[in-house]
Amino acid sequence: MESSAGISNSKNTGNIYRYIYQNGPCSRHEIAQALSLSQPTVTNALSRLRAENMIREDVSEESTGGRKPMLIRVIPDVRYAIGIDITKNHVSIVLTDLDLSLVCSKRIRMPFEENETYFSFLKDLIETAVRESGISPESLLGVGISLPVLIEENQKTIYYAKEITTSPDLYTRLSPFIPYPCLFFNDANSGGLAESWRGNASRPMLYLSLSNSVGGATIWQDQKLVSGDNMRGSEFGHMTLFPNGRPCYCGKRGCMNAYCNASLLSDFTGGSLEEFFQKVQSGENKGFRDYFYNEYLSYLALTVNNLRLCYDYDIILGGYVGAHMDFCIDRFRSMVLDLNPFETDGSFIRVCHYRTEASAVGAAIYYINDFVEKQ
Ligand SMILES: [Zn+2]
Repeated sequence: MESSAGISNSKNTGNIYRYIYQNGPCSRHEIAQALSLSQPTVTNALSRLRAENMIREDVSEESTGGRKPMLIRVIPDVRYAIGIDITKNHVSIVLTDLDLSLVCSKRIRMPFEENETYFSFLKDLIETAVRESGISPESLLGVGISLPVLIEENQKTIYYAKEITTSPDLYTRLSPFIPYPCLFFNDANSGGLAESWRGNASRPMLYLSLSNSVGGATIWQDQKLVSGDNMRGSEFGHMTLFPNGRPCYCGKRGCMNAYCNASLLSDFTGGSLEEFFQKVQSGENKGFRDYFYNEYLSYLALTVNNLRLCYDYDIILGGYVGAHMDFCIDRFRSMVLDLNPFETDGSFIRVCHYRTEASAVGAAIYYINDFVEKQ
């Protein structure tokens, strides 16, 4: 491609780069076989990629008895992307390389407001991250911004926002403050994408984002999001769990969100989910423990079992609560299996990798994916 990287526009070179990115480190032989290309074609393309500083070759550490093969991998720090996750009261920022290694990661308390003070705060946050990381601004592909809203396919226009108060044309007002390409992304979809990429999962999976509202994501094979006909697929939080049940912020009653959002737990401890889980785990507060196991997890088990029966995919527990669930995952799996007529192995339920930065990482992934796809 004739980008600033100056890579040749050869289709083979692009295919080879993408193969190495997704499967590397790998040998020349493996690339030639996987892409049905001749060895000289692969060698030529690799020479071009090496000359552009996009890949490197190392001698394999593994000894097979014969000559050690050269393993090829992408050089991850030729490009970077920034992800920002905006929530009602916090802003998270990550700066990541092509390998999703976080060069910078911060979470700051800053209530969302649609005004120039807030926009300038974001601008400073981005400029500080670039400066402190020591990367060249030219190597930054873009800034993905995750928000707890529903966004049209143009990744700019907001068409549903209740968790934060914002106008549909926030993008028009905010984007002049961002000195790089930028787009908006739904927070739960971004979180799911980050977990899928981190797990290098080629298989489909469902992501349940258990934060102060509940969202979700469906990741189809090849780590692509399924957004549905109206960009509101995987809104698992508004599935009706109990007809005429608790009121939900969406205006309806009985939504799963009203039974499984993170605030239901953190409200017991003045907003601190860490403190809530510390008291549950230590057994210090029997009431918290009973509520968590007998109510919260029972509602979550209903949801997870229903999703498993609908999709038959792995389910990742994410968001604020998911990040704390390592200690109770075995018990939770048993609760789900008790409801499931077919299964005896609950390993399809997993705890997320990221603690608080999943949505920010997922928003950055858009620009990384775009870069890799365009080679
Ligand atoms: Zn609802």
